[in-house]
Amino acid sequence: MKAAVWHGYKDVRIEEVKQPETPPGSVKIRVDYAGICGTDRHEYVGPNFIPIKKPHRLTGRMAPLIIGHEFSGVITEVGEGVTGYQAGDRVTANGTLCCKECAACKSGRYNVCEKLGFKGVGDDGTFAEYVTFEAERLFKIPGNVTQRQALLAEPLACGIHATRLVGDVAGKSVVVIGPGIIGLACFLAAKLAGAGRVLVAGLGTERKKLVESYGGEYLDTGSKPIDEYVKELLDGQLADVVYECVGIQPTLDNALHIVRPGGKIMVMGVYEKQPVIDMNLLQEGERMLLTSQAHLDEIGVALEYMSNGRINADELITREVTLDTLVEDGFEELLRNPSKHIKIAIKIG
Ligand SMILES: [Zn+2]
Ligand SMILES: [Zn+2]
Repeated sequence: MKAAVWHGYKDVRIEEVKQPETPPGSVKIRVDYAGICGTDRHEYVGPNFIPIKKPHRLTGRMAPLIIGHEFSGVITEVGEGVTGYQAGDRVTANGTLCCKECAACKSGRYNVCEKLGFKGVGDDGTFAEYVTFEAERLFKIPGNVTQRQALLAEPLACGIHATRLVGDVAGKSVVVIGPGIIGLACFLAAKLAGAGRVLVAGLGTERKKLVESYGGEYLDTGSKPIDEYVKELLDGQLADVVYECVGIQPTLDNALHIVRPGGKIMVMGVYEKQPVIDMNLLQEGERMLLTSQAHLDEIGVALEYMSNGRINADELITREVTLDTLVEDGFEELLRNPSKHIKIAIKIG
């Protein structure tokens, strides 16, 4: 089968590889669509998580491996002991890999497993014609959701999980910093969970229409500093909740300065450089700094939002490529125009 194999820094090769075997408890899936995640882009110019020196703590795998975790597909083979799924089922899945033995796994929080791994960085992933997944990580795609739309379920689930960790956002004022796919996922999750005013801040006005169509307010931080916007729009008040979805020092600083005492900051950005945190500012207002790691069963909620028309996933896909054009039109394009795209889809099947 054809697959995108990560070999090293800016070295993703489209190769002919052996189809995976289907282990007991797992299914084999023919991939229809995959999506390029921020994680994949980080790996392209990485490695970030892909093991290159010693084998992965859970899977024992090292580079080279097939990248990608976002996808939709159709089951072609069902492994021994799998119930509830059959060949022909349209599915997507949670790429989390865990040990099933540690305290986190036993309490159901396998997304923070001690030996946590992820498809596409710790084991073969979804940028391939076929992939295997454990049946317990699968989600059936509702009849009125297309394969193309369903590939958005995974990134949307990240925002839904983060919002569950923030807690009750109903009626609260929310600011989302960074209108990429994760920022937009947080925005949609907060909005659909009943948040009050939701402001989305980013450079330029490319996402303005989209944000406004869901009842949010867009702030172009290229024309005014974010703290001025917030004070103006929230009648001199600071925000109840801030999602930091960029992952650089200035946006973390901004988050700290626009959240009210007692408010919460949910950090979603991936930091390539370790940031400095103004602990005194955080502490003097009993502000809370929260983090979120992937998701649990929230892909199901995301699919439901698409099925009942509350999220239009098609408008989040800004470009479509194939495996053959993935490197030049996908990864390189994301480096050339980082803020232009929300989600780049890869049509495989
Ligand atoms: Zn993802
Ligand atoms: Zn575990």
